[in-house]
Amino acid sequence: MIVVAEPDQVGADLAAGVLACPRCGGRLRPWAYAAARRVRLLDGSTRAVRPRRARCAACRRTQVLLPGWLLPRRADAAEVIGAALVAKANRQGWRRIATQLGRAPGTVRRWLRAARSRQHLDWLRRRGVQIAAQLDPDLLAALDPQPTELADALTALSAAVLAWRRRFARHARPWTLIGVFTAGRLLAPS
Ligand SMILES: [Zn+2]
Repeated sequence: MIVVAEPDQVGADLAAGVLACPRCGGRLRPWAYAAARRVRLLDGSTRAVRPRRARCAACRRTQVLLPGWLLPRRADAAEVIGAALVAKANRQGWRRIATQLGRAPGTVRRWLRAARSRQHLDWLRRRGVQIAAQLDPDLLAALDPQPTELADALTALSAAVLAWRRRFARHARPWTLIGVFTAGRLLAPS
């Protein structure tokens, strides 16, 4: 799996042979599509999506090119799950978050549980720090320690988003970029 920021651009990149295989560095070529799915957005609507697949010309392995705005095996978009994590960092409980987002309490509870191990939160934080440090070290120096490890992780990822948007693409949506930065692992794999 490769997480991409701009799925429309990926089609052109595949056709041009400029995407590299993450396993061997070979050229990725268009290769059909992954299964269609429906993803629920923050405003309550659903969006149909059919991620592209690509195949490496060298090692012949296939890869799903997952748009950054969704997460693997989750029915809700990254912006929804991200909003739940931000609310948790603001000390709200899972029942209240579920009501606010209009989602099942058990679903929200599963998301929060998948983003609470110290190891995972530290990994998220380090992803944010690495990207922000490459693009804008001054921004990184201005970050204050937060009261929780979750808040530290989200703050570092926000800094990476800000640095990236300033440098490359001001229009890019924050949770899409975070999806790319974290390779689709905003939540720890179960
Ligand atoms: Zn390959």
